[in-house]
Amino acid sequence: MSTLPYLVAGGGIAGLGAALGLCAAGHGVRLFEQAENFEEVGAGLQMSPNGVRALKALGAWEAVEPHCVIPSEIHVRDGVSGALLQRIRLGKSFEQQFGAPYRVCHRSDLLSGLLATALRHPAIELNTGRKVLGATTGHGKAMLEFATGAPATGQAIVAADGIRSILRRKVCGTVEPVFRGHAIFRALVPLKAVPPEIEADCVTLWLCPRGHVVHYPVSNWRNFNIVAAIDAGPGTPGWGEMAASREVLLGFPCASDDLAALLGTPASWLRWQGADLPELPRWSKDNLMLIGDAAHATLPYLAQGAVMALEDAATLAHMAKGAAGASSFERFAGVRRQRTSRIQAESRKLGQIYHATGLTALARNAALKLGGSGLMMKKVAWIYEWTPD
Ligand SMILES: Cc1cc2nc3c(=O)[nH]c(=O)nc-3n(C[C@H](O)[C@H](O)[C@H](O)COP(=O)(O)OP(=O)(O)OC[C@H]3O[C@@H](n4cnc5c(N)ncnc54)[C@H](O)[C@@H]3O)c2cc1C
Repeated sequence: MSTLPYLVAGGGIAGLGAALGLCAAGHGVRLFEQAENFEEVGAGLQMSPNGVRALKALGAWEAVEPHCVIPSEIHVRDGVSGALLQRIRLGKSFEQQFGAPYRVCHRSDLLSGLLATALRHPAIELNTGRKVLGATTGHGKAMLEFATGAPATGQAIVAADGIRSILRRKVCGTVEPVFRGHAIFRALVPLKAVPPEIEADCVTLWLCPRGHVVHYPVSNWRNFNIVAAIDAGPGTPGWGEMAASREVLLGFPCASDDLAALLGTPASWLRWQGADLPELPRWSKDNLMLIGDAAHATLPYLAQGAVMALEDAATLAHMAKGAAGASSFERFAGVRRQRTSRIQAESRKLGQIYHATGLTALARNAALKLGGSGLMMKKVAWIYEWTPD
């Protein structure tokens, strides 16, 4: 087995997770992040039981858990009438059913937990301010080139450089993110600014015609994360641009009073394009492999993007044990592709269901009420029951 380290491009959730996974498999790792610091940007993340299990497998759960919030329930509401359509209790019986809890956190809390865990491993070298510009692969060796600083040589490259990955080109040519017809707005407000009518201890999903809203508390109950998605045409701008509250409110003309009050709370929002990746023809070439959003970015409606990145990393920990880069990469894609492409497809479908209008919306609401939480749990069991082995 080569004694050269693995090179990891990108220090987000997938990159730091992969570093932990590869280190657990007995390899040295050199990680390169373009930002000057491991980014504290982002917003809230829902951490479903499969994500918790992946974090445990990577040895990072202890560092992440203290920063997580324990929400009491998940509520689904009609965004026009305000009626409660579905309630899922997240207590003991949920935990027993799925063998791990459901938590919510801020991306920076997850990232700092992964970072703190990585810093404890001498076999992981972390580099910031190193923007990867290109890679050379083949013959059991791999090299990364940077905007500044000397190239790095290793046995293989794990490309964790996000949805707009530049290394993806090396694997499958130019594949751009696909806009799926939604504008997504994210805001973070202090918990104490949340209107009293809003159940701030829950994860709540509001379903409106041509839009939906999700919110929950984060950062040890200090802040409240709000995400709103609305139907939008081609040419919708955004990768983290500022948007005024008025723009978001205009997307929800028939919102119930409670929902409208909440949407009026943030002074400004950050706007994103609702985009994902099409299924890629391959994830690896020679000894370069894509993981996380670089391989399978998804719309956020199943709240599984970061969790899939963590699952990737925990799977890598198994596959890379005693194996040279390229051989474990092929097996890795074989194990992961079907699951992540189903997540991508179901997230797209959910976007349409969430934004339904007229009779379709009435039928959806009736199904949610009649089906009860048992039906909902059955539908997500294939996601939540995942285990690293
Ligand atoms: C509105 C919204 C809500 C979401 N909610 C959830 C949720 O509830 N639960 C969930 O699981 N997921 C959620 N997600 C998805 C989640 O945020 C992403 O799937 C996850 O962050 C992907 O992690 P990643 O490490 O693959 O990519 P990224 O987080 O994009 O990290 C990529 C890293 O690579 C670095 N990089 C990029 N290019 C280079 C380069 N050339 N050289 C060096 N470094 C580079 C970047 O600076 C960055 O640090 C949500 C996403 C959105 C938009």
